[in-house]
Amino acid sequence: MSAPYHGSCNCGAVTLTIASEPLWVRQCWCRQCQKAAAGNATCNGLFRTEGMTVSGAITWCGYTAESGNTVKHGFCPTCGTQLFGRNPTRQGAQVVRLGALDDAQDLTVDATIWTSEAPDWAYYDPKVEQWSAQPPGPAPKPA
Ligand SMILES: [Zn+2]
Ligand SMILES: [Zn+2]
Repeated sequence: MSAPYHGSCNCGAVTLTIASEPLWVRQCWCRQCQKAAAGNATCNGLFRTEGMTVSGAITWCGYTAESGNTVKHGFCPTCGTQLFGRNPTRQGAQVVRLGALDDAQDLTVDATIWTSEAPDWAYYDPKVEQWSAQPPGPAPKPA
C-alpha cells in the first residue's frame, strides 16, 4: 500500500487523508508515549502537513520535553483515540499515530527511540536502528 493513506479515530468523528509517504516511521518508548499508548510504545509516522486533510475536532495536550520544546499530543475529544503529535522543530510536518491509519500495514519502521525509558519486558526488533533517547532532528528537506 502507498499514499494516499486514510484513517480515523475509533468513533469516526475524526477522519484523515494523507497525500504523501512518511518522512520516517518510529516507535517511541518515552514515558509520555507509554502513557498515551496504554503502556506500549507509540508507533508514529512523520508526514508532511501539506496534502494532509483532517476533518473533525482535535484536542491538543502539551508537555515540556527534555529538549525544552513543547510537544503536543492530539486526540479525538469524543473517544480519546490518539491521532497526532506535534513538535515545534518539525515545521510543515506532524506525527500521525499509525493506529489511526487503515492502510499503513506495509510501512517499515526506521527506528526505535527512547529505549532508556522502556520497561524491561519491552521487545524491539533487533534489525531496527535503536536510540536510547531522542535522535537528532531530520535535516530540512526541500519542499
Ligand atoms: Zn473519536
Ligand atoms: Zn515518545
